[in-house]
Amino acid sequence: MARIGFIGLGIMGSPMAANLVKAGHQVRGYDHHEENMAKLEAAGGTAAGSVAEAVRGAEVVATMLPDSPQVSEAVLGPGGVFDTLSGDGMARGVLYIDFSTISPVVSRELARAGADVGVHVLDAPVSGGETGAIEGKLSIMVGGDTAAFDAAQPVLQAVGTTLALVGLHGAGQVVKAANQLVVGGIYGLICEAIVLMEASGVDAKAGLDVLAGGLAGSRILELKRASMLARQFKPGFRLDLHHKDMG
Ligand code: NAD
Repeated sequence: MARIGFIGLGIMGSPMAANLVKAGHQVRGYDHHEENMAKLEAAGGTAAGSVAEAVRGAEVVATMLPDSPQVSEAVLGPGGVFDTLSGDGMARGVLYIDFSTISPVVSRELARAGADVGVHVLDAPVSGGETGAIEGKLSIMVGGDTAAFDAAQPVLQAVGTTLALVGLHGAGQVVKAANQLVVGGIYGLICEAIVLMEASGVDAKAGLDVLAGGLAGSRILELKRASMLARQFKPGFRLDLHHKDMG
């Protein structure tokens, strides 16, 4: 069981941190928003006052932040993860796992900067949404070296069920981009199918039910068709983040 510093406790990070606590890890977390830290404390973790305070003395550091600029600032910036760990002389051998969806170019920069101070870095973006994060059943696509992937197993297995090392640093982010193309594309097509059926006076619910059982069937059709038909727009994933991924 590890001492984990967890940065970014939003829709995904909050339940992931809670599952790490459940698995027996000591989790010290930091997020810009107070209410997210309260959730971590309620789950049995410890709230820190800054990135530096969250990662000091950690064996594993995890980030679950919106995009490349936030990850770069939290990890490479002054008072950030690498600065803090190397300033304390505690960087060597630490494992840093970035669960955020960011640019593969930035993932490779993080890996190089980590290697300079002795930190092993993995890019490990996830798929499965808020439900997958709550249930600890995420799919995780990992880029990095095999030794770090093996060392990360106790952490990855606490938050995910489908874990794959897909290549070197940045490869996880490339696979995640492919994932988002498929997810975004299917959402768009289901919307078109609903519009077509409704505009033609066809029962769209019966139509989608039969589509779900045929070759057009998909996990998105299975899980989301009812809320799409009902025009429920409560976000589990912010639209600007999906736009970022398509970019
Ligand atoms: P979110 O906006 O709910 O959470 C991000 C959190 O990071 C926020 O709570 C914010 O306060 C915090 N934050 C931002 N900058 C910070 C900093 N410098 N230091 C500390 N905290 C900071 O987003 P999310 O939905 O949890 O997504 C996180 C990442 O996971 C994104 O890259 C997203 O693309 C990816 N993702 C999301 C989903 C989903 O369904 N929500 C699924 C898979 C992957």
